[in-house]
Amino acid sequence: MATKKSCVKKKGCAKKAPAKKENLLVLTKEKRDKMTPASVLNSLKEGNKSFVNKGVTPKNHKRLVKESAAGQAPMAAVISCFDSRIPVEDVFNKSIGDLFVGRVAGNFVNVDLLGSLEFACKAVGSKLVVVLGHDSCGAIVGTINDVKLGNLTAMLKNMKPAVTKTNKEFKGKKDSSNPDYVRAVAKNNVVCSLDYIRKKSPVLKAMEKAGEIKIVGAYYDMLTGKVDFMNA
Ligand SMILES: [Zn+2]
Repeated sequence: MATKKSCVKKKGCAKKAPAKKENLLVLTKEKRDKMTPASVLNSLKEGNKSFVNKGVTPKNHKRLVKESAAGQAPMAAVISCFDSRIPVEDVFNKSIGDLFVGRVAGNFVNVDLLGSLEFACKAVGSKLVVVLGHDSCGAIVGTINDVKLGNLTAMLKNMKPAVTKTNKEFKGKKDSSNPDYVRAVAKNNVVCSLDYIRKKSPVLKAMEKAGEIKIVGAYYDMLTGKVDFMNA
């Protein structure tokens, strides 16, 4: 510490000049604003390809922490499950400052998450909303099995519309021992979340209509790490 102090006092030994904006590693507002909803979606698709095939690119977190301290301009907002096996930034080969991530067991959307998404897109300028469901989701299985446990009981009700929707469409054994049924409910849960966003947020719906944002569903495969974007 003493060396540092005396160093700062000497002429020509002052702190390094901050990096020029164009040399920053972090996603700046200028860089993000040049992206379109389609190019953001493509960046996430390419990031996932890299995650699946080569793994995550090493990131200079030390620099990213410093560079992002003054503000943020994430390209996308992702609603994902609470599940420990889906590190969202890694899955898309992204890092500090790239994504807003809202996580809740069963990746449903409620008023709090909807407000967060509106903040991300309308206030901060993110160009893409992704609802990311996944295979072998404990919250989905719990909803199917009508689990009763403390506050979990109320939380699981958020996924009930997906079970109701699936029961109308699904041919085959409708219980949690059937992986195809569990997958169908999990995928419908993503669809229900997308419906909820469009129905309950005139702000996001208008942004989508104006082409300012895209709202898409996606599904994560536990065995491969691959994300399939639904209808996108
Ligand atoms: Zn889950």
